Amino acid sequence: MNCSKEHTGVVYLVGAGPGDPGLITLRGVECLRRADVVVYDYLANEQLLNHAPPAAERIYAGKIGGRHNQDQEEINALLVEKGLSGKVVVRLKGGDPFVFGRGGEECEALQSAGIPFEVIPGVTAAVGAAAYAGIPLTHRDYTASVTLVTGQVGKNKDASSIDWKRLSLGNGTLVFYMGITTLHRNMTRLIENGRNPHTPVALVRWGTTPEQQVLTGTIADIAERAAQACFKPPAITIVGEVVNLREKLRWYDRRTLFGRRILITRAADQAGEFSNLLTERGATTIECPTIRLIDPCQWEPLDNALRNLGSYGWLVLTSGNAVRCFFKRLQVLGLDARALATCRVCAVGPKTAEVIRSFGITSDLIPADYKAEGVVAEFERIPMNGVQVLFPKADGARDLVPRKLEQMGARVDSPTTYCNILPDKLPAEALFALERRSVDCITFTSSSTVQNLANMLGTDRMLDMLKGVAVASIGPITSKTCRAVGLKVDIEPEEYTLTALTDAIDAFFSNEAGYI
Ligand code: SAH
Repeated sequence: MNCSKEHTGVVYLVGAGPGDPGLITLRGVECLRRADVVVYDYLANEQLLNHAPPAAERIYAGKIGGRHNQDQEEINALLVEKGLSGKVVVRLKGGDPFVFGRGGEECEALQSAGIPFEVIPGVTAAVGAAAYAGIPLTHRDYTASVTLVTGQVGKNKDASSIDWKRLSLGNGTLVFYMGITTLHRNMTRLIENGRNPHTPVALVRWGTTPEQQVLTGTIADIAERAAQACFKPPAITIVGEVVNLREKLRWYDRRTLFGRRILITRAADQAGEFSNLLTERGATTIECPTIRLIDPCQWEPLDNALRNLGSYGWLVLTSGNAVRCFFKRLQVLGLDARALATCRVCAVGPKTAEVIRSFGITSDLIPADYKAEGVVAEFERIPMNGVQVLFPKADGARDLVPRKLEQMGARVDSPTTYCNILPDKLPAEALFALERRSVDCITFTSSSTVQNLANMLGTDRMLDMLKGVAVASIGPITSKTCRAVGLKVDIEPEEYTLTALTDAIDAFFSNEAGYI
């Protein structure tokens, strides 16, 4: 029995921020890492739950569109119960816990029950959504104040106490929360109480997320515009002259890949870097790994080579995976980079060279053309007769490099260093997106990603699912495989790197007619 669980626990009310999972505080993440229980909201980004230990209990206590899935009393009781049982509880709330979040009521319940609590602030929707919409809430030329208001006007609601006269006077920025269903009524009240009907207004829905939508108008016409556009909650309403600055300052939804959904077919442990490059330009990425890396069936050939690295003139590494698996095995054998002291190293391209450098080795040769043919072309300029070459490779990889080097008189060992296999199944999210035809672009970064996807889905089904989806391939070899299975390649960079592929995708969508 764990004694520490016997005493009272603690409840952290953590502000999850407005949507972008990067907008939670460091302290908030620290609390999540220690959580035994996480009680989270409809507005808190579910990705944040990944910070909690896998074993932590995750309880959804959402409230959707004012319909309380769980009554506030029940949530308070749940927090008290979990706290009393000695757990570390994180109450993860959208935005800031104390801004229209009923965090105050939750703290009161905890305080009465004698349960220690802490409140970790968050970026509230007004601040987050305004920033991502390019609207400064205050500006020396336009306004010196900002007021956060609830839009829920009605019997027994807090808004009945709103002093509309005061709110309408002057030029202070107003931000309404929960004010979409009551938009018409609230805007009318502002006009009735003296605000200029031409004052600009912006509605920001799902601010700070790839689903962000912004609708602008004036106090007089925004309600009608919202009705026409079927604009739905959750959204904030920003009222004030500062809204006009958006046209000049919008940055988030102006990025070229904003709103584009891009499928990544690389192995799960490699998708991150590519995903980051794409999301920085505003894309939403969906991971759909078609490759799983596993160990080779036998280590002997590689181990023999690693124990005799001194006998090789060259080590040729043609992918980041080959590099990582090579050095991992070297370490398992109790060796390190010093074993390469007398051996020169060739990297297929700058990315592979970067991975090699992370293990303390600078590559001696990087071909101008980042592919197997480029490697061969470089070696054609060097006397290779009798030179021993080590070429660690993936099981079943192309044998062009060893074959050509042998023709030049080299003695080549190409032990299998890792195997690419098909994963058991594709992730549900990726399949769902493909079936719903909600993917804008699919990316292939090697021939095996193409072949494996075709094998997993069946070629006909794959071709059907990818109708109207832009196909992006990293280079000519991958493109050839795409065409061989019947896919038309829309995007192919000149340089075979992820950065160049990202640039090419960016250029493709920037040129697309009708894209705003
Ligand atoms: N505690 C939260 C507010 C909860 S009230 C905070 O500090 O942000 C719920 C309201 O917040 C929604 O109706 C909507 O008006 C606003 N809201 C929350 N997240 C939002 C987002 N990402 N974009 C726009 N409005 C949001």
